[in-house]
Amino acid sequence: MTRASKPQLWFLTGSQALYGEETLEQVAGQSLRIQQLLAASGGISAEIVGKPVLTEAASIRRVLQEANSDAACVGVIAWMHTFSPAKMWITGLDALRKPLLHLHTQLNEALPWSTIDMDFMNLNQAAHGDREFGFIQTRLGVPRKTVAGHVSDPVVVARIDAWARAAIGADHLRNLRLARFGDNMRDVAVTEGDKVEAELRFGVSVNTYGVNELVEQVDAVSDVDALVAQYAEDYDVVPELAAGGARHESLRYAAKIEAGLRRFLTDGGFGAFTTNFEDLGGLRQLPGLAVQRLMADGYGFGGEGDWKTSALLAAVKAMGVGKSLGASFMEDYTYHFGPGTPKILGAHMLEVCPSIAAAKPSCEIHALGIGGREDPVRLVFDAAPGPGVVLGLVDLGDRFRLVANEIEVVAPDEPLPKLPVARAVWEPAPSLSTSAESWITAGGPHHTVLTQAVGTETLRDFANLLGVELLVIDQDTTPHGFADRIRWNQAYHRLAQGF
Ligand code: MN
Repeated sequence: MTRASKPQLWFLTGSQALYGEETLEQVAGQSLRIQQLLAASGGISAEIVGKPVLTEAASIRRVLQEANSDAACVGVIAWMHTFSPAKMWITGLDALRKPLLHLHTQLNEALPWSTIDMDFMNLNQAAHGDREFGFIQTRLGVPRKTVAGHVSDPVVVARIDAWARAAIGADHLRNLRLARFGDNMRDVAVTEGDKVEAELRFGVSVNTYGVNELVEQVDAVSDVDALVAQYAEDYDVVPELAAGGARHESLRYAAKIEAGLRRFLTDGGFGAFTTNFEDLGGLRQLPGLAVQRLMADGYGFGGEGDWKTSALLAAVKAMGVGKSLGASFMEDYTYHFGPGTPKILGAHMLEVCPSIAAAKPSCEIHALGIGGREDPVRLVFDAAPGPGVVLGLVDLGDRFRLVANEIEVVAPDEPLPKLPVARAVWEPAPSLSTSAESWITAGGPHHTVLTQAVGTETLRDFANLLGVELLVIDQDTTPHGFADRIRWNQAYHRLAQGF
């Protein structure tokens, strides 16, 4: 899953004609320096593309409309280098549909105390130019992120990058096509939802295909030698599945599922999919290995027809671009209340993404009652320890809600030799009891995205630019405070929808 073009952030600099040609040339030069410093930091996940200094309404409106229609542009950074009377920004900002970050900075880091004169003070006046810009954004109700500080500060760069990643994720979601093989698991409530509202709010297009359309592609696969050789390279394949092993045919069939599924998704331009073990048609195995490998390549996935989690996973994977660890479909499965720190064991029947694996996965085959087919091949591993977030998306009937929990993935207390699936063990913040009480009070789902590549700040930015509620459970959460927040948010979001 790669973009057709490298994502761009357009860098806009505001000023006004009153300063005169000479000063405006200095403004342009300083704008270029800021762009170069950001690019040279190596910490921004998109290409910074500079635009000429803006000094009047028509050109502002034109560049923001161009940003709307340019597929490579995922967001706009605006900096009022000097005083840019903000009425000239009204119609442009009103037209803007791409994510906006207001960078409040100046090129000079230190104030030149002994030499400062009126010329210097007049040139370096973002301190009030950006306040004028802040007013008009607030007056118009323009959603944006405001970041203040010098661009040589790694914290400033990290905050811009958190937003850049969110913008990349939102762009991915806006253009995402999702294929569902079969419908939802019968009688399950939380995986349902309004696909029309999802396409309006997020852009993702969700459609269902008969599973036998996939089966046709799988059955049409003739040669899997290269894929099977790839498995032997990427994983520790158990002897019974390896070439010459008693169950090697099962591995070859798993490879046919992967090749057929990949062909189906590629041909249809899909970036995410769902399966349902109740509707496998002519598939001889429940897809395990194939799903795991496609997730590792950036595809979104949800089990039991869960298209919301699948779309969310695709977006989170896009946001995690360039990070060594990844993101996976996940399900809260079972608890360790003690001894020691309470923990959650998360897994799924088969489908956990190896991008979160601590070590080389083992490729195995085991019986699986669910699905009622031949034994499925799957990758087995423990998730890598370290900080992460679990994120869930629910449809409340009148709107969507995201729920996130900051977690620490840990090594299992003991090896799990009898558990034949990939899994993650984590300690949720602030504690298992507060995390679970808060999550359940929020109506959070049992299917989630677990990410070790994307932090809470990116998820907050992502929710803000989608206009979706996000409830975060972290070190500061208390059950009573969280329950209050849900009530207040309910009032806010219902008022914000209008009539
Ligand atoms: Mn499930």
